[in-house]
Amino acid sequence: MNLLRWVALPCALAAVAGCGTEPPPEPETPPVAIAADVVYRGMRVIPGDGSPPIEAAAMAVDGPVITALGPQEEVAPPPGTPAVDLAGKTLIPALIDLHGHVGFQRGLSYEAVNYTRENIVDYLRRYVYHGVGTVVSLGTDPGGLWREIRHAQLLGALDGARLHTAGSGLAAPNAGPGSPAPRPSASGVTSEDEGRQRVAELADLGVAFVKIWVDDRGGTVEKLAPDLYRAIIDEAHRRGLQVVAHVYYHDDAEDLVAAGVDGFAHLVRDREMDDALVAAIVARDVFVMPNLGVSERRRHATAPAWLQDPLLAATVAPAVLERAAASYAGFAADARARAAQYAAMERSLLKLHAAGAALVLGSDAGVQDHFPGFAAHRELELLVAAGLSPMDALVAATSRPALRLRQIDAGRLAPGMRADFVVLDANPLDDITATRRITGVYLDGAEVDREALRAAWAAGDGS
Ligand SMILES: [Zn+2]
Repeated sequence: MNLLRWVALPCALAAVAGCGTEPPPEPETPPVAIAADVVYRGMRVIPGDGSPPIEAAAMAVDGPVITALGPQEEVAPPPGTPAVDLAGKTLIPALIDLHGHVGFQRGLSYEAVNYTRENIVDYLRRYVYHGVGTVVSLGTDPGGLWREIRHAQLLGALDGARLHTAGSGLAAPNAGPGSPAPRPSASGVTSEDEGRQRVAELADLGVAFVKIWVDDRGGTVEKLAPDLYRAIIDEAHRRGLQVVAHVYYHDDAEDLVAAGVDGFAHLVRDREMDDALVAAIVARDVFVMPNLGVSERRRHATAPAWLQDPLLAATVAPAVLERAAASYAGFAADARARAAQYAAMERSLLKLHAAGAALVLGSDAGVQDHFPGFAAHRELELLVAAGLSPMDALVAATSRPALRLRQIDAGRLAPGMRADFVVLDANPLDDITATRRITGVYLDGAEVDREALRAAWAAGDGS
């Protein structure tokens, strides 16, 4: 690359003054032998980086890696390579959800006691069943259990979506997650030194992000003070870590951006984002998870149709779906106010999008009855309903979160990338809800046995 520039530059400069010499002939590209143990043919491939879909594509996969991808006629795997005909299907990269909370729900129970290895693995299977290949549990993972699970996954000894976490997130004492079950999983911080110490511990654990909560929950808890989050952000940056903030108030978001926060786990929800905040977010390259789904639920006074989605019926026990449906009656009283709040969130989202902000999927699944995996598909639908194109929504759920998570080999379908993909029965560029019409999920080139998962859930205790 450097050599090419070195050679090309003088002629490019000379060209300004009228370079008379012919450019050197393009070197003949030697045919590269593709390693492949399977080739998928005939489908549409949406690469995930915003580039146009490849129609009638072929994708060669060798072990866990994509080795070739292009129009069928341009992909030539070794003779005899087994071919799988996927004509009529659409491939997208496995989704990447940067905001979840694993482990707390089990059936109708939403308790800290459910936070076990077995239940976390069950979450990861639910994610992958829905085509989510990578998830970040954001701040509700104390201790070392998540590392054991992650380590087992890295060794190939555990299936499910790849788990990353922010470990135990940081907040004012007893002021982290909103609900009682996960609340004690956060770490209380009362001084700058303590904040720096907690960050050092998180860095040693190998967290993906540092999570902070900056919210007083409507005046009911203490808010993490600016001098404390400044110390946390500074220490995180010194250690090469990014800080993601739960935020509610516009004023806090402004100060967090000024303090150097790297990402937001929510839009602000007290009012529409003003132009100055949007500009600051773009200028500082802060990524934003719109996190629409949890807020959107509360603008309805009756149960929405999506609760009947067959994808949910396969993974969530009927009693849990009934409870979720019944919960809407409780939202009736303030549904109108919530609808106005949600409309402001949508306007903020569109302002951010128009300004070029980095929008990233973060569904907040794992909040009670906010279902792992399915919530990601709802989030995509809500992004499109708010005004994003299906392509923009898919980029926000694939290549962009991969880069923010520093997973350079995931989130995109291209040679050299992990073969993490979802096979769909319809084209999500026509209708984004097609992301739910899943006929296959592959991680590291291996097909996830969704039928076995479904059978296990059906035979189990309905969790
Ligand atoms: Zn959350």
